[in-house]
Amino acid sequence: MDKALADLIKISNITGKDSTLVQGGGGNTSVKTDDGQYMYIKASGTALKDMNVKLGWRRLRLDAVLSVIEDKELAKLDAGKREPVVVDRLLLACDDNVKIAARPSVESHLHAFLERCVIHLHPLAVAAYVNAKNGRAHIEKIFKKEKLPPLWVPYTDPGFMLAKRISKLIQQYQKQHGAKPAVMFLEKHGLFVTASTPDAALRLVRKVIKLCKSKLKPIKPRTTKAPAKADITAAKEAIGKAVFDATGQSLPVTYSSKNKSVAAFMARKDAAKLLATPALNPDELVYANGSAMWLKTCDVKAITRKLKSLVRRGQKPAVAFVIKGLGLFVSAPESTTPLIVDMTTSSLVIRMYAAQFGGVLALNRRQQDFINNWESEAFRKKLVSKKK
Ligand SMILES: [Zn+2]
Repeated sequence: MDKALADLIKISNITGKDSTLVQGGGGNTSVKTDDGQYMYIKASGTALKDMNVKLGWRRLRLDAVLSVIEDKELAKLDAGKREPVVVDRLLLACDDNVKIAARPSVESHLHAFLERCVIHLHPLAVAAYVNAKNGRAHIEKIFKKEKLPPLWVPYTDPGFMLAKRISKLIQQYQKQHGAKPAVMFLEKHGLFVTASTPDAALRLVRKVIKLCKSKLKPIKPRTTKAPAKADITAAKEAIGKAVFDATGQSLPVTYSSKNKSVAAFMARKDAAKLLATPALNPDELVYANGSAMWLKTCDVKAITRKLKSLVRRGQKPAVAFVIKGLGLFVSAPESTTPLIVDMTTSSLVIRMYAAQFGGVLALNRRQQDFINNWESEAFRKKLVSKKK
């Protein structure tokens, strides 16, 4: 096996199996070959922990990937036309014998100009800062003693524009510091680390998480008395009816029991405020239709009204509902419910953390509209529902 592929499987499996690193879901990895010609990268649709010699990666020609970012004609297109072309170009850059037509990660072009090994994750300890109003200032303080400071990347639409912006920021960083950044914090998104060896990249990830955690006040998990069965049944019925009345869809409603993070969230005085902001990041918007809806009581008419108001404003109707005193309910097909529960639970934790650093920083309206129209996100969502 190619050494670069062995290294990729190593960093993917180690990070994928570590629950503190893959918290929040998602993430991708890549390793370049020593001759500088190719890059092995995680494929869409396979979890990091499941990658193996046969599955979960693609090999791309680096020159073909870099030519995508340097393409001036592409930069002139609007996103709706551009992003499908970019996805096709990345697929064309694949040069391997992989039989299953999995797409390379949608962030492939971004990996191309980083160091040999790249690990990208969305850990909660990092989201606590990249989704907080004063997150950047706190990160700068925490990493003040580092010889090479981390690079903070202000929120940019994912895909081509993000790759271009990072390429520019890295050039500026290199001029200023004489080296490329090893750690990047992407606002409203996550973490990138890059190093020349797999061990150095893994060490760096752990160090960043440790430093981020060092200033976080831990959220005490809570256990509350289980609500009465009749109350849960009534809430499920009310949500099901409201979803049908507002969207015409008849979907199963699932109750997520024994959820200590949800219990901690419900006990807060600022719970309603923390959920009043939109999706924290593109993933929450794509996979969980945005923020969960906070409900003080479970009234069909009130829920219907709130859902209709979201749709009227051109937003996706909520699929997750946090009902005070009861817990988290999800209205979705069974295949996607576990992912929505995970994502919403993570989001509640991030929102509680962000309150420690000036409040929640979420996607604005324009940023949400871009994601809603993004072709490759739609493709990823389709893959997830097919896989399960
Ligand atoms: Zn990401």
